[in-house]
Amino acid sequence: MVTKYIFVTGGVVSSLGKGIISASIGKLLQARGYKITIQKFDPYINIDPGTLNPYEHGECYVTVDGMETDLDLGHYERFTGIRTTRENSVTTGRIYQAVIDKERHGDYLGRTIQVVPHITDEIKARIKANAAREHFDFVITEIGGTIGDIESAPFMEAIRQLRWEMGRNAINVHLTYVPYLRAAGETKTKPTQHSVKELQSMGIQPDILILRTEKHLEPAILNKVASFCNVEPSCVVQSEDLPSIYEVPINMQNQDLDASIIRKLGEEVGPKPEMKPWRTFLKLQKESTEEVHIGLVGKYDLQDAYKSIRESLNLAAIYNHRQARLHFINSENITAANVEEQLQGLEGVVICPGFGQRGIDGKIEAIHYTRTHNIPTFGICLGMQMIVIEFARNVLGYADAHSMEMDPNTRHNVIDIMEDQKSVTDMGGTMRLGAYRCDLREGSRVRAIYGQERIEERHRHRYEFNNAYRAEYEKNGMQCVGLNPESDLVEIVEIPELRWFVGTQFHPEYSSSVLNPHPLFLDFVRTIIGK
Ligand code: GLN
Repeated sequence: MVTKYIFVTGGVVSSLGKGIISASIGKLLQARGYKITIQKFDPYINIDPGTLNPYEHGECYVTVDGMETDLDLGHYERFTGIRTTRENSVTTGRIYQAVIDKERHGDYLGRTIQVVPHITDEIKARIKANAAREHFDFVITEIGGTIGDIESAPFMEAIRQLRWEMGRNAINVHLTYVPYLRAAGETKTKPTQHSVKELQSMGIQPDILILRTEKHLEPAILNKVASFCNVEPSCVVQSEDLPSIYEVPINMQNQDLDASIIRKLGEEVGPKPEMKPWRTFLKLQKESTEEVHIGLVGKYDLQDAYKSIRESLNLAAIYNHRQARLHFINSENITAANVEEQLQGLEGVVICPGFGQRGIDGKIEAIHYTRTHNIPTFGICLGMQMIVIEFARNVLGYADAHSMEMDPNTRHNVIDIMEDQKSVTDMGGTMRLGAYRCDLREGSRVRAIYGQERIEERHRHRYEFNNAYRAEYEKNGMQCVGLNPESDLVEIVEIPELRWFVGTQFHPEYSSSVLNPHPLFLDFVRTIIGK
């Protein structure tokens, strides 16, 4: 089968959940036995979101091959279990950089470089890049932003051209918003009509419309949209608010979205897949009503800032027949005097990743409390580094122990800067990024949890456990149970005496998916609920 392209665009407003819709389409096609990939094209000029504040952009997701990307790639991986790469995430910045590099190299000698055709050609090449390396039946391309944005115009032109070149092998799925006006008691389709008009003015006729709505839409409304927007009635579906994002694929399947896509792309529509494992998960999710209270100690009071950690905990709770109740605790507000009150009622605590000085002291106070009160604790990246620092200060007796990141003059730099990081001057894309191997110590808890000798996990950091202190830590009860086989860097610490006290230098949350929840999160929750 020749590769088919699905372009997912959004109109009216942002935050409609294009990423979830793209991931759901991917999941449904996969369930029919097709090989798929999903990629995100973002119109902003940053090369990657790596240097963006999480308040701007939510969490930064990291691919196995070390690309810092948009958090939607996390949805793609959690829904479909595929492994994305740097080719699955492209920004305007990368497009322009590639074109300018070619210009300097002399590849376009004699010509004027223009948005059309040079930028649009580069976008088209990137859209086709994944399928050029490996065969995919379907390539789903999500375009970030909202149509009509100045930044997204070159992407729209590229899609227009590709649809013209590819004929039946490419379609556009457009996601819009249908608001409900309470005072009038009416749902309004006008914004959708305008959005489709705008798309049409760019030469793109949507094949499928997905209407985001808070209230169930009657067939008459869908029909009206279909006729005004020139779309087949069966190709207008609605995406209502649902209790869980994981119900979206089933909701889409119930409206035959996948069948319509396949038919529009000129393929034979086979029988509807049962989605058995997915439905089993949803059933478990519905049946799990008892709650487990877990604290997230971090500095970003924004759901999306710790997206993958939150989802990993949600999934781990469900597989333990529980509903995760996640409580964000701003570490900037934690002091020695109020830590007990701040952590009250929490059955387990995650110390979140992060950068910089802000909120560090509160994290250390929180760890001191959970360690001395034997509350299950999971430190991730910066969280692990803080676990190491708290131990140095309060057990090893080095009151000034710190990370070189926060205090470059500390005499006890238990967290040190890596040798190859010392000469780094550019901030973007220069951390230790992507998957690295890690050997697990025989007899350790983590070895039992993974049931494997060697694992691979994704990293995103500059600083490391300082091996000069390793023996001292081990003598005093904190074990370095995960080591990188090439560099000997410490990747996991644990205190075996405690119920669950583990710090990982890597980010396990990036590789937890709906059908394959991560073993560390599973075991963390299992221990908390006392199973
Ligand atoms: N700031 C720390 C470092 O760079 C930890 C980074 C993180 O938590 N992702 O090493």
